[in-house]
Amino acid sequence: MSDWLETSRKVWNYALDERKDWYKSRSCRIDACSIRSEYVIPADTQRPSYVNQAKALTETKKANPDFKAVQSAVLQQVLKRLEHAFTSMWERGFGFPRFKKAGQFRSLTFPQLADNPVQGNRIKIPKIGLVKVRWSRPIPDGFVVKQAQMVRKASGWYVMLTLQCDVDVPSPTAKGNPMGLDVGLQSLVATSDKELIPAPKFFLSLPRKLRLLQKRASRKQRGSSNWKKAQHRVAKLHEHIANCRQDFFYKLAHQLCNRAGMIFVEDLNFLAWAKGLFSKHMLDASFGEFFRILEWICWKRDVLFLKVDASHTSQICPECGTHTGKKELSQRVHKCHECGHEGDRDVAASQIVAQRGLAAVGHTVKMLDKGLSVSSPTTQEFHAL
Ligand SMILES: [Zn+2]
Repeated sequence: MSDWLETSRKVWNYALDERKDWYKSRSCRIDACSIRSEYVIPADTQRPSYVNQAKALTETKKANPDFKAVQSAVLQQVLKRLEHAFTSMWERGFGFPRFKKAGQFRSLTFPQLADNPVQGNRIKIPKIGLVKVRWSRPIPDGFVVKQAQMVRKASGWYVMLTLQCDVDVPSPTAKGNPMGLDVGLQSLVATSDKELIPAPKFFLSLPRKLRLLQKRASRKQRGSSNWKKAQHRVAKLHEHIANCRQDFFYKLAHQLCNRAGMIFVEDLNFLAWAKGLFSKHMLDASFGEFFRILEWICWKRDVLFLKVDASHTSQICPECGTHTGKKELSQRVHKCHECGHEGDRDVAASQIVAQRGLAAVGHTVKMLDKGLSVSSPTTQEFHAL
């Protein structure tokens, strides 16, 4: 399986190189090229795409025994992934796809499996054969295993299965207790029910441990066996941190779903955020992950999940709607000069999020002393919206 990863990596790098060369050859004006050197690729050469790269791959496979050992579909998935990386760059502003160093290619996707690939505690992988697996949970009745993805992590190999079942799952509708969330660094999550959920201790303690291990690893001689050991320790801790974080997010998402029928969050641009002010903090990239998990759990638990406009949520009074001006990060309390309302700033922001969310799903919101009061529209009204 490691060999397969290595072959996949070669395919990725080769295909990326081909694409890069093509762009370089097209980036200069024909009457203003460099004196020294210029990439020249014939004008009638097509832009490398999934289709023609996959075709070229079939040709390469004939000559190269390394490539022959790997299932074609797996290598085609590598090219598909590259294509996806390019479209993400064009359409969603992601970075330019990068070359992968040894060991950086970590997963194999098997888009086609044999019928009934799962046999007891083994799974049948094309060309590799039966592989022993320790299942984390049984495969539910009525589901068919369609795809598998194998991932190499520091602690070992993992397999992820894609299951298919022919059922109709209704999307959650607007009902029940509305809850707005505000994420931040002081308290991880603030809810419009005036709850503050702090970040668990490991959010601070584990990165500290990681820095220590990284420092130790950097003192080892590159390539030596001690260096390899130290690198492995760092990789394992990285994995542990990711596992802890994910576990916590899943539990938190379930807890929130216990108390809410609708959950609203701010539609934040985490990419821009991570580059800016909070870039040093371990939490920066995590909020995006949390929202992804929350959205998924909400769908599973039949809770409506909605992202709302995030502008100025911390500057508006949830009681009277007045703009109270920008707050410094250190200013933890929201105090309204119009109506005298006082409360935690994150809670105030989450209440604004809840109000915007409710407005978006078509509930009429009345502001009362006790907080939000909601009158639900009838189903017909909701569909009309
Ligand atoms: Zn006010």
